[in-house]
Formats: sequence, structure tokens, C-alpha cells
Amino acid sequence: MSRTPQQIPIADGLFTWPSAAPQLIGGQCRQCAAVSFPLKSSCPKCCGQEVERLELARRGTLWTWTVQAFAPKSPPYASGEAPGEFAPFGIGYVELPGQVRVEARLTESDPERLHIGMPMELAIVPLRREANGDEIMTFAFRPLDGAAASHQEEA
Ligand SMILES: [Zn+2]
Repeated sequence: MSRTPQQIPIADGLFTWPSAAPQLIGGQCRQCAAVSFPLKSSCPKCCGQEVERLELARRGTLWTWTVQAFAPKSPPYASGEAPGEFAPFGIGYVELPGQVRVEARLTESDPERLHIGMPMELAIVPLRREANGDEIMTFAFRPLDGAAASHQEEA
């Protein structure tokens, strides 16, 4: 018996999947035009009730960031790692031009390779693997090719 492992989004309605060019699914208020993520039924800015689904830009710039160097409290943190398996990861806000700032994991955790204002692109990455082999996928942002390389003089 073999079964092909699946890649399963961590939650429905967060991003378009499967897709070669996935996008986060946000919302835009019809009253005040504010863009928000994730998509909710009312506007976080004006509480308007008419929010339209909007697929967000795949690229933005790093607005601020930090590196999570120790395992967050669980719950709510649920990557499925055993104690001692934790690997530091970057976390940041990425500003999608003209839309919204999104808090997300970063694929890069080396502080030497992260800087405010660098171009970032959405990536859908495995968060953990289930006992049946399925991968639980979440969204993250990765430095656009070339952006990190310019800061690798010492490498
Ligand atoms: Zn609004």
C-alpha cells in the first residue's frame, strides 16, 4: 500500500494553492478601500461589512524583521518539532506596495542576509510533516534572488 503524500495548506482561504505563483488571499473594503489580510467579513479599519476578496501582490519589501531564536510557547505554536529540533527562523512584516503589511515567516534566518527594504517574494513552504507523510504548508517570504547575494561579501 502506498499513498502519495499530499501538501496541505495549514488553513483554508489563506493563499491560492496549489499554484505555481501562489498569492495570499486578502480583502479590500468597498467603503474605505483598506486592504487587509487575512480576508475577513468586516473591514478592520472602518468596520464596513462589504469586503471583497483580493489576491495580494506576490512581491513586496521587508518592512521590519526579527529572528525567532527559541521555540515559541506551544500552543499556539505548532510546528510539530520535538524539543531540541527547533531551528531559528526569521519573521517579519512585508509591505506589499499599495496594499497591506503582512506578518509572515521568512525563509531566511541569517541576520547578515536580512535588511529592511529588501525585496521579498511569497513562497509556500512546508511547516511540518504529518505521520502519514503529508506536508502541512504555510506561507513565508523569501528574499528575491540577488537581493541577499549583494550582502554576501564575506561569504
Ligand atoms: Zn473599510
